[in-house]
Amino acid sequence: MKQFRHNIIRAGLDALYFTGAYHVLRPIFSGIGTIFMLHNVKPARPDAFQPNRHLEVTPDFLRATLRHLRAQDIDIITMDELHRRLTAREFGRRFACITLDDGYRDNRDFALPVFEEFQAPFTVYVASDFAQGNGRLWWITLERLIAQTDTIETEIGGVEVRLDASTPAAKQDAFDQLHDLMRALPNGDDLPRAMSALCARYRTDQTAIGRELCLPWDELRSFAEHPLVTIGCHSITHCILAKQHEALAAHELTISRARIEAHLQRDVLHLAYPYGDRASAGPREYELARQAGYRTAVTTRPGMLFAGVADHLTALPRVSLNGNYQDDRILPVLTSGAATAMWNRFRRVDAA
Ligand SMILES: [Zn+2]
Repeated sequence: MKQFRHNIIRAGLDALYFTGAYHVLRPIFSGIGTIFMLHNVKPARPDAFQPNRHLEVTPDFLRATLRHLRAQDIDIITMDELHRRLTAREFGRRFACITLDDGYRDNRDFALPVFEEFQAPFTVYVASDFAQGNGRLWWITLERLIAQTDTIETEIGGVEVRLDASTPAAKQDAFDQLHDLMRALPNGDDLPRAMSALCARYRTDQTAIGRELCLPWDELRSFAEHPLVTIGCHSITHCILAKQHEALAAHELTISRARIEAHLQRDVLHLAYPYGDRASAGPREYELARQAGYRTAVTTRPGMLFAGVADHLTALPRVSLNGNYQDDRILPVLTSGAATAMWNRFRRVDAA
C-alpha cells in the first residue's frame, strides 16, 4: 500500500515536471519561501530492506538542492532571519530555510561539509533525550529488529501480532503494519511501552541505538558553535504531543528547551514538533509553543510559505526532501510549489 502511494506521488511529481506544469503553477503556488525538512544525510546503503529510506538523503542530493536554490537566486537564511522577515513582512526576495530533525551525527559528518561548500546556514532540531543518551528512536529500532529476524511476534494494544519477516518484501510489510499499529495507539505512553516489550523480547537496546546515531551534548556543543548551525528544539522524548495531557505536552516543550540551553549555553528559539502531522500537533500545541516562548515552530504538514503564515509562526509548514524521491528533476517542482499544491489538492494552504 505504501509502495503504491510512493508510486502515485512519484508519477505526480514526474507529471508536474514533464508537462512543464510546474512553470505554470510557480506564480500561484511558490509563495514567499520554503522551509525544507530533512532527517539523515549520509551515503546510500545497499540494503534491500530500508523502511526509513524516506528519511535519508545522500550528500549529493543535498548538494544538488543547495545548488538549485543558489541558481534560482533564492536566499538561504536562518530561522532567526525567517522570523525577522515574516514579522517585518519583508517579502521582496524569495527565501529558503534548511532544517534537519532529531540531531543525528550524520548531520555533522556528512551534511555540514556540504553546507560549508555553499556557506548555507541550517537548523538542527534536537530532542533532549537523544542528546542525553537515553533517547528512543523507535522507528529505527523497529527497522533493526525486523532486519535481524524471520518472524516477529508481539502484542500491541492488546492484540497478538505474528508477522513473517523472512524476505525483504515481507520485512517491509511487517514494518509497515507494526509502524502503523504503534502510531495508532491511543495514549501517549502506549507506544514506548509496546516498543519496550518488543525490544525485551528481541533483545534490542533502544537507547544504545540512540547513542550510536545522535550527537551527545559535548559534541553538540562544538557543533552548535559553528557559524552556519542553529540548534532548535524537538521535545524531550520525541513523543506524540497531541496524545499527551496538556501539562505533559507543555513540559515536553519547556523542559527540553531549558535542557538544551543549559548544555549548549545559548538561546533556543525555534521548535519542530515530533512527527509534526495534524494528528501529532494541532492548535493546542501551536498555542503551547507560543506560550513557551518559541519564535517559530515547524510542522511536517507540506506547504510553501505564504504571507499569511506571519500570523501563524508556531504552525509553519515544510517541504520534505524525501529520500524516496532523490532526483534532481524534482527540485524545480518542489521550489515551484507545484508538488505541495498537489499534496494539498491545489488548495493554497496557510497555517491554522
Ligand atoms: Zn523527529
